[in-house]
Amino acid sequence: STTHFGFKEIPTDKKVEAVAQVFHSVAAKYDIMNDLMSGGVHRLWKRHTISQSGVRAGNKVLDIAGGTGDLTMQFSRIVGSTGEVVLADINDSMLKVGRNKLENRGIVGNVKYVQANAEALPFPDNTFDCITIAFGLRNVTDKSAALASMYRVLKPGGRLLVLEFSKPESELLSQVYDQYSFRLLPFMGKVIANDAESYRYLAESIRMHPDQETLKGMMEEVGFERTSYQNLTGGIVALHKGYKF
Ligand code: SAM
Repeated sequence: STTHFGFKEIPTDKKVEAVAQVFHSVAAKYDIMNDLMSGGVHRLWKRHTISQSGVRAGNKVLDIAGGTGDLTMQFSRIVGSTGEVVLADINDSMLKVGRNKLENRGIVGNVKYVQANAEALPFPDNTFDCITIAFGLRNVTDKSAALASMYRVLKPGGRLLVLEFSKPESELLSQVYDQYSFRLLPFMGKVIANDAESYRYLAESIRMHPDQETLKGMMEEVGFERTSYQNLTGGIVALHKGYKF
């Protein structure tokens, strides 16, 4: 299918490779680009996610598609020495940058690093009190398989938080945002990281991602209960929550 601005959706068999290429390519500059492109606002979205997580000392947390570890870093402080945070990511370049960053900041002891695909998580059933996936789900090829896998490894009573780009609430915001993501983002990607292609993929993956209600429905289909979402920044981003009972 062709989307706005004539971009084509990447076929499934090519997508895995394309996503891997994008994140190998952006890993070293990922954090600085995040700050520049969101004007630092991604920090607020992440802080809000932490505040909604209900994570306490002693909990076991999985930060899937954890990348450079922003959420893992905060969770590590909260769960303390009796808890554990697993930062899982499919991409070893991103994992390496994340691990270096956290170790340099002295965040050691209760964090584990695991290379894993969200679609087939390599953990036993009923392992985690909380699972987060921030700006990761849209990169996953089979989102339902990934959600089912997260459901399986959550403990009963545990919760999933999905922080992801979503559908702006107003038509005006939607148009402004389209111009920003399809024109300015690739331009900034080119000028700052010499990589317009990766940032064009970013815009395209945002456009293709299921909207708020669709994602909520997908969570319910694999078993999540008491599902809800909050729009952040006018729906540019949404935080979905669901429980396993
Ligand atoms: N969570 C971090 C954050 O919010 O800054 C990183 C988000 S980054 C935009 C997306 C991450 O998803 C990348 O590190 C990428 O390697 C990872 N990823 C993509 N597909 C994945 C999959 N199928 N399973 C696990 N991680 C995946």
